[in-house]
Amino acid sequence: MSEILFEDTLKNSRAYNILRSDFRLEVGHAYMLVSPDNEIVKEFFTLLAATIFCETKSACMHCGPCNTVVHNNHADVAMLNLNAENIKVETIRNMTKDASIKSLSGTKLYYIHRADLMNQASQNALLKTLEEPPVGVTIFLGVSNESAMLDTIKSRCRAIYLDIFDNDTVKQAMLDLGCSDEVASLAADCSEGQLGKAYRIAKSPNHAELYSSAITLLKGLSKSTDVVALDHSPALLKNTEEFLNVLSIILRDMIATKSNNQVLSRHVGMQIRSIADGFSAKALSEIILIITDARRKLSLNVSVQAVVDSLLFSILEAKYKWQ
Ligand SMILES: [Zn+2]
Repeated sequence: MSEILFEDTLKNSRAYNILRSDFRLEVGHAYMLVSPDNEIVKEFFTLLAATIFCETKSACMHCGPCNTVVHNNHADVAMLNLNAENIKVETIRNMTKDASIKSLSGTKLYYIHRADLMNQASQNALLKTLEEPPVGVTIFLGVSNESAMLDTIKSRCRAIYLDIFDNDTVKQAMLDLGCSDEVASLAADCSEGQLGKAYRIAKSPNHAELYSSAITLLKGLSKSTDVVALDHSPALLKNTEEFLNVLSIILRDMIATKSNNQVLSRHVGMQIRSIADGFSAKALSEIILIITDARRKLSLNVSVQAVVDSLLFSILEAKYKWQ
């Protein structure tokens, strides 16, 4: 990533401040940066590297070292696997070889993006370096799925969990990037507190469309012939995964309105309340499970059309079973 999009928000995060005070004492040998928000982990690491090499140790973004770090040009900062592929043992071996060569600055940072994609052999190859880290070398592992990491690796890294940001913070970050109020609200509502996810939503021209298709679906689904009309909706078939995310956020909001809790999607609060009247609380909880099941089937490569058909019929069935 060539620039830091969320500099202010990340600098105010809990995770950053923990590490910044850590670095003032000493930069450790190994850190695991854990978050499902992959793009942000990358950006977060860049900010950490800038903090370490910055002339004022503050990631000022103006000095020479900050500039080279941000443009991924710093001689002592290596970022691996930025395309999030499976990591070959060879890649790790080359990295450990490189780590054993002393640097001019005395400090060398390695970042392995999506380190949880390392298989056991790659993780074992890395383990040696973690056990006997060369002086001045720090390894940062960007980890989305912590359970994929070997315990032996985990026990040698300090785990830092990136913040889940509140709705207002995410919305403000989107406004700061120049998003309109409507887009910023929608992105924040659907982001689950993840900046990277909010950014993807804000930049996706389809998201607002998906949102209104999901609302239309819940409003219009009342008999089986409706399923036939809806299950060929291009929005649904093309972006099924994203559609399911949006749908589950709307459902959570429908459940929230039933118990008089605040809805996440504040920009469409009234609309959500009126749709929720057509469903019982029990039906809504069952539909959440139906969506989880649809997600699982998609991850198992079941055909999209089959997943969508079964999703719509199951929603309809739940709606009437629990009236
Ligand atoms: Zn600087």
